[in-house]
Amino acid sequence: MERGFATKCLYGNGEKFEGDRTGALSFPIYQTATYAHPAVGESTGYDYSRLQNPTREKLEQVVASLENGLDALAFSSGMAAITAMMELFKPGDHIITDADLYGGSIRLFDHISEKNGITFSHIDCVAEDAEIFVKENTRAIYIETPTNPMMNVIDIAKLAEITRRRGLLLIVDNTFLSPYFQKPLDLGADIVVHSGTKFLGGHNDTLAGFLTTGSPDIAEKLRFIIKTVGSGLAPIDSWLILRGIKTLPIRMEKAQENAKAIATFLLDAENVRRVYYPGIPGSKGYEICKKQADGFGSMITFEVADRELASQVLKSVKLIHFAESLGGVETLITYPVTQTHADVPETVRIKNGITDCILRLSVGIEDKEDLIRDLRQALVR
Ligand SMILES: *Cc1c(COP(=O)(O)O)cnc(C)c1O
Repeated sequence: MERGFATKCLYGNGEKFEGDRTGALSFPIYQTATYAHPAVGESTGYDYSRLQNPTREKLEQVVASLENGLDALAFSSGMAAITAMMELFKPGDHIITDADLYGGSIRLFDHISEKNGITFSHIDCVAEDAEIFVKENTRAIYIETPTNPMMNVIDIAKLAEITRRRGLLLIVDNTFLSPYFQKPLDLGADIVVHSGTKFLGGHNDTLAGFLTTGSPDIAEKLRFIIKTVGSGLAPIDSWLILRGIKTLPIRMEKAQENAKAIATFLLDAENVRRVYYPGIPGSKGYEICKKQADGFGSMITFEVADRELASQVLKSVKLIHFAESLGGVETLITYPVTQTHADVPETVRIKNGITDCILRLSVGIEDKEDLIRDLRQALVR
C-alpha cells in the first residue's frame, strides 16, 4: 500500500536512514565537492557535487514522492529552477502564461527569455480560453494557481486536456498550496515548479527551488541541464529544506486554520474593501480550488480603502513582519506594488488588479487571536 503524505515528509518512498554505524536519525550533510574513485572506470555513483550529492539527492527523492513524481531536482532558488527549466525551450518557441504570476517570473520571461528568442502570450487563464492562443510554435502553458498575488484559481485539469491534445507541456508553479494541498502532476501537469524557500522550507531561513516531473524524458533533459548550468542546491541548504519538510503537514494545517479566521475577520473589517482568499465559500475560485486541491492554503490578499491606509498598516503592524516572501512560520505582510511586483509594468499591474491598495498576507503559525489583534489595531484610522 502507498504510504501516507506525512510519512513521506519524513522518509520519502525510501527506507529509514541506515547509512552509517552510529544510528543517526538525521540524514548527514555531505559537505563535499568531489568523490574519490576506486579505480579507472569505477565510481561510487557520485563524481562531483554539481552532478549529484547525497544530501541533495535525499531531498529530491522526498520532494518527488510528495508530488507523486518520478524525479525532482533541487535548485539554489525558485528562480534558479525556473531559469533552468527555460533551457528546455529554444529560440522561436512560444509559451502561453497566465498574466498574474510572481513578479520575478514575469521579469525572467520578459527580459531574459524574450532576449533569448522565446515569445510569450500573457493571458487571463480564468476568463479566456487558452486554446485560442495556441500557435504552431507554442510549446507550453505556464501557470500558478492560486496566482501570486491576486489568488485567481485556474482549473489545472482543464488546461491539461488542452496541452495533452495539442502536444504542449503544462507547467504549474505549485508554491502557494504546496503538495500537501495540491498535486498538479496527478491533475495532468508535466512539470511542477516550487519556490522551496516558501512552504517546503517553511522557516524563512533558506532559499531553494524545485522542478518535479512524472516523465522520464523530461527528467533526463532536466538532469542534463542541472549538471551543465550548475545551479543545484548546496548540501547544507538541502538539509535545511529536508528538515523543514518534516513538519509540512502540521504547518500547513495550522497556517490554514489561522488564515480562515483572518479572512473571516477581514471580510467584516472596516476600511477593507475586498478579500481574495479561495477558501471563502461563494468566492470566485472556491469551487475549482475545492475540486482540485485538498485545502485553500494560507495566502490572503486584501484591498484597503486607500493608499494611505495601506502604508499605515505596513508601518503599524507589531507582530506581523512587513517583508517579502511567504510560506514560513512567521506571518508576513507584503506590498506587491513596491516589492514582489515592482518590476512589472504599471499597465500590466493595474490590469491584474495590483493597485497601491493591495496587501498580501502570508499567514504563519502564531496564535490566531494575536494575529487578528495586530491587524485590528493596524487598520484603525
Ligand atoms: C517566491 C516565488 C518564486 C521565486 O522563488 P525564489 O525562491 O524566491 O527564487 C517563484 N514562484 C512563486 C509563486 C513564488 O512565490
